[in-house]
Amino acid sequence: MDSVKGIYGAKPTPLMVYEMLESRFGFQGWWPGRNNFEILVGAMLTQQTSWKNVDKALLNLRKGGLLSLNALADADLHELELMIRPSGYYRQKAARLKAVCSYIRYKHSTLRRFLNLDVQTLRAELLSLNGIGNETSDSIILYAADKPVFVIDAYTKRMAARLFGIWENLEYDVLQDYFQSALAKDVGLYKDFHAQIVELGKRYCRTKPLCGDCPLFKICKYRKSTWHPY
Ligand code: SF4
Repeated sequence: MDSVKGIYGAKPTPLMVYEMLESRFGFQGWWPGRNNFEILVGAMLTQQTSWKNVDKALLNLRKGGLLSLNALADADLHELELMIRPSGYYRQKAARLKAVCSYIRYKHSTLRRFLNLDVQTLRAELLSLNGIGNETSDSIILYAADKPVFVIDAYTKRMAARLFGIWENLEYDVLQDYFQSALAKDVGLYKDFHAQIVELGKRYCRTKPLCGDCPLFKICKYRKSTWHPY
């Protein structure tokens, strides 16, 4: 496991970062999906694509009456592939969706029972399923199961690396532990903080950062070391 010495000694704190982002972007109230099942499906479909494409796929599934655990578990694979085609990698994603829904139905009968598992068990079961990695698993736990697990994605890694001056390729669990140790176990805070980081990544902390008007301009280590007004 990588050393966390550097990040634990760093200032500013995650809560300070959240407050600065929230005061600029406002509360995000964010995650497409009308219910827990749609959130789970959306979390799987969003891998390597944009939310705009996930929305199109969810709309097709909704129109086709496939947005339920039983309907997806029993769906014709080819029909499912066509419906989720807008989300990309549709063959792989269709097979995985069917497999995950079949697993939940077989092992727990209902989605509610599955999501009611304690966090450790739920996370272990999700990670044991084909196609579900750390980010997808934790998005499902946070947004569908309403349990406090901090989601780490590429935007979070990039922001943390630049802001705190840490290595961008820190292990997932190390960075997650850093945020979780520094924040109260608050589902609403975790949800909105993740959304704020995504907003930051889209608007300012891009591959080529736009530091000049970034809400974290005053506290960012990367900006202090590289940015010049002229
Ligand atoms: S100041 Fe620049 S590098 Fe720092 S978080 Fe903002 S956009 Fe990213």
